[in-house]
Amino acid sequence: MQETNTNFSFLADGGECGDLIRSINWSETSLGPVDEWPQILKTTLGLILHTKFPMFLFWGPELICFYNDAYRPSLGYNGKHPAAMGQKGEECWPEIWDFIKPLIDNVLEKGQASWYEDQLLPIYRNGRLEDVYWTFSYSPVFDETGKAAGVFVTCNETTEKVKTLSRLEESRDELEFAIDAGELGTWDYNPVTNKFFGNARLKSWFGLPADAELDLTTALNAIAEKDRARVTQAIEQSLQKSSGGGYDVSYTIINPVTRQERFVRAKGKAFFNDTGDAYRLNGTVQDITDDSIARRQLVASESNFKAMVLQAPVAMCVLKGPKFIVEVANDPIYELWGKTAEQMLNKPLFDGLSEVKGQGLEELLIGVLTTGERFVANERPVALPRGDVMEIHYLNFVYAPFRNEDEIIGVIAVATDVTEQVLSSQKIQDAEERARLAMDAVEMGTYDLDFVTSGIITSPRFDQIFGLNVSSTHRDYVSVIHPEDLETRRIAHEVALKTGRLKYIARVIWPDNSIRWMRAVGKVIYDDNGTPLRLLGTAVDITESKQAEEELREINQRLELALEAGNLGSYELNIETGEIICNEQFKSDFGLKDREQFTFSDLINTVAPAFRERVRAAVGSAIKNKNSYNEEFQIICPDGSVHWIRASGKVRYTNEGKPALIIGVSFDITDHKNLQQQKDDFISIASHELKTPVTSIKAYTQVLERMLKQKGDEREAAMIAKMDAQVNRLTSLIGDLLDVTKINSGKLQFNDRVFAFNELVAEVIEELQRTTEKHVLINNVNYTGTVHADRDRIAQVITNLISNAIKYSPLPGNIIVSSISTENEVQLCVQDFGVGIPADKQELVFEQFYRVSGDKQHTFPGLGLGLYISSEILKRENGRIWVNSVEGKGSTFCFALPASPVTQA
Ligand code: ADP
Repeated sequence: MQETNTNFSFLADGGECGDLIRSINWSETSLGPVDEWPQILKTTLGLILHTKFPMFLFWGPELICFYNDAYRPSLGYNGKHPAAMGQKGEECWPEIWDFIKPLIDNVLEKGQASWYEDQLLPIYRNGRLEDVYWTFSYSPVFDETGKAAGVFVTCNETTEKVKTLSRLEESRDELEFAIDAGELGTWDYNPVTNKFFGNARLKSWFGLPADAELDLTTALNAIAEKDRARVTQAIEQSLQKSSGGGYDVSYTIINPVTRQERFVRAKGKAFFNDTGDAYRLNGTVQDITDDSIARRQLVASESNFKAMVLQAPVAMCVLKGPKFIVEVANDPIYELWGKTAEQMLNKPLFDGLSEVKGQGLEELLIGVLTTGERFVANERPVALPRGDVMEIHYLNFVYAPFRNEDEIIGVIAVATDVTEQVLSSQKIQDAEERARLAMDAVEMGTYDLDFVTSGIITSPRFDQIFGLNVSSTHRDYVSVIHPEDLETRRIAHEVALKTGRLKYIARVIWPDNSIRWMRAVGKVIYDDNGTPLRLLGTAVDITESKQAEEELREINQRLELALEAGNLGSYELNIETGEIICNEQFKSDFGLKDREQFTFSDLINTVAPAFRERVRAAVGSAIKNKNSYNEEFQIICPDGSVHWIRASGKVRYTNEGKPALIIGVSFDITDHKNLQQQKDDFISIASHELKTPVTSIKAYTQVLERMLKQKGDEREAAMIAKMDAQVNRLTSLIGDLLDVTKINSGKLQFNDRVFAFNELVAEVIEELQRTTEKHVLINNVNYTGTVHADRDRIAQVITNLISNAIKYSPLPGNIIVSSISTENEVQLCVQDFGVGIPADKQELVFEQFYRVSGDKQHTFPGLGLGLYISSEILKRENGRIWVNSVEGKGSTFCFALPASPVTQA
């Protein structure tokens, strides 16, 4: 039977739980339908459902559960509600049944109520088992019979309260801990009662008794006299509502017992009631003695540091932050930057000094700022502004991190400008290097002699020069100097001590007893008082130049002897100044015996006018062509006498190739010339005198030959013909002699005209072929041009060459006559296969009276004049003559003449 329609007054307005009870079909439960419920149950339920206080009821033997809306939250969501309503107690509360069953039993059996406060009874709710705290009472509900029929539970969940309390406890612990850890004193002052309370630490600082409440005045007594009024005032002020209640004051306390001073900071807050009167002021006291010292020290050290930077003799600055703001900088660094304080101070470094951007310094600074590692630069080149230009300066600098505690907040830069040192050390290095190279080049040894200790430091080369080894002492070096040179050395050292300069040359005797020459040069170093301290010296082995000098001296001596013996003059002409240095013989050769000094033009003036230009030209051409000259000329002496001089000279050049000197010799050839003249005169007279009788003889022989032939005396006529041939040879010899005298006196006549060269050659060949049967003359001349010269003289030359070819070819053979022509000359060559001429004689055959001597000398008659005359003729005709010959194989004589190779018409 459904009871929902039943009007259950006790359930009316019973809230959600009342509705829930009504909705349950109780007839199916052990309680039976509601109508049949005992009145006490209904009454109790009415009470429960209508109260706002959380209540619960266990009823009957099965301890059926009832509860009201106020209790419901304790069942949570996803938990017991709504199933708990009407459920058996044991089924509803299995998780705590062990705990509450005895309590319920106790109530039911003994009728005793019980009370529990903040009891932890974890229950299942909200989908899990939760720790829930309860404050509850269990009391019996008696039925009509006075028997306890149910247990009435008033309960209150105190979970929140318990947790808050425990949190409070925890935070109090934490506070305690913080106060302890922070070594704080705590205090609490009641302005109403003027009582003051402090914790143990505070009391010990203030020297107050441990357990008493105190008057504020007692506490204030511990404050240093100088601070007391100020503290009192601060307290009074904080107690004024208008002040906001804040209290913060630092002062010194002096422990009245131990006299220990502390510098403390007291902080607190005043609390005010509704009427605006302060009822409490509490707070803490912190010992800041150490802090205060540290801060004072910090402030002091910061200002010290700043002062230190400003007064530092080296360039220094502090750059703060990632922009490197110039915080402190001293004058030297402004000078180094080439900037003023206005341009730099409190500005980013690279804004004020934008000129040095991009030289890698930004990166270095950033590196120091980020890594904290200092950077040290040595002689680093940095371009810095100086006026309008950038100058390279060499800097030694350090970038060090500038720290605050552990944080790097900037960079300290310290710099020194070492430009001058770097440059001068570079110069010194350069100079040393040059000196070393120079010393190496001349193989110079060096030494450093200490006058005080006699200690000597030497270079390996120096030891080598002295033939000694490194470990030698000063005495050792002196001991190897040649005994004869020790005096020289001693004097040189004596002079050196006075003048500061040492210089001498001495011989050194080497261990193998060989003698070497050495030149020592040195410089004395003095102290401030002028006392000689050290000698820095060099030594060079000059043995070779000494030997060369010696050789030169000998050569000069020999030369002088030779010059003297040969009456040779010698001279040296300075081309630039014309000055002449010479020996006495030279002066006398030029008739300038009285003159101390003379020049080239003085010399030229002594030359006979007829020769003057020739001599001048010869000297000029020697200078120009860088060769020598050799001239014979006449000199007119001041006394009017005339001398023949042969002078020769060779040009010497400077290293730059400029002609500097002519050196040479002169020789008086007057006697020689006179003899030559006498010889020429004799030949000339003799040949003239011979010419007439020989001509007569020739005429008579021809007449005689003709007469004998007419008489039929053939044999006699043949003898006369041979005589005629000998007369012809005599005529030709006399002709040669006459030609020579003419050449020597410059009287050889020439009648130049144009003629066909090949015709002349053919004529000569034809004529000479008749004189020989053993030789075949082959004419290979193919030149068809003309020649402008004296035809007879050229015929004389060709005749001479072919005659010689025949004469010096004793065996039968060919003689080849050939020609070569070029654009402006014709060459004629006569080749024989005869005796030939030794190479060293070939040049000489063109000289007057020269004949190649040898065993065969007398086999070939002659005067040695033919080739001389030929060469003189060619000289006059602007031609040349030369020979190629191999002794025993034959000779080829050639001459060349200027020619025009025009083919004859
Ligand atoms: P000579 O023939 O009268 O001695 P030359 O002046 O003609 O005089 O010659 C000079 C010298 O040159 C000769 O004595 C001779 O020794 C040498 N000589 C000249 N022509 C020839 C030649 N064709 N072969 C070898 N020797 C020669």
